[in-house]
Amino acid sequence: MSALETQTKKIYEPRFNPETNKYEDHLPWDSPYLRNKPVITCPCTMYDFNSKTSYTQHIKRTTHEKWLDNYKVPDESDELKKEIKDLRIDNGKLVKEITKLKNKLSKKNIEIERVQAEIGSLKKKNEQLVNEGYYSCTSDEEEMD
Ligand SMILES: [Zn+2]
Repeated sequence: MSALETQTKKIYEPRFNPETNKYEDHLPWDSPYLRNKPVITCPCTMYDFNSKTSYTQHIKRTTHEKWLDNYKVPDESDELKKEIKDLRIDNGKLVKEITKLKNKLSKKNIEIERVQAEIGSLKKKNEQLVNEGYYSCTSDEEEMD
């Protein structure tokens, strides 16, 4: 891995100029004289730069100028609306899943009740047979006199 890749990349953001009512390019570092400048990625072409020279050349490119012209700050409320929609869909799926599992559980409970009733009646039958002189099939003890 190169030294450039090990650094965390920042996304380049143009700065809004209230006088022109437009977004404008601005040098993304506090000082152009900073040594080992952090790598900045420009979203227009995902272009990485970490020098003033490469930055200055990059912002003159047509693709970059077009990107800047159409630049809009990602609208948070739009993203939240999308997130709410996604969460509602997820919630709907989960409610469906819970209903399915509840149905499965109540079917299992009915099955358990049925099996328990069967065990009860088999125990009674077994008791009866023991009383009539047969060995118990549920006990290891020999109940012979
Ligand atoms: Zn760019």
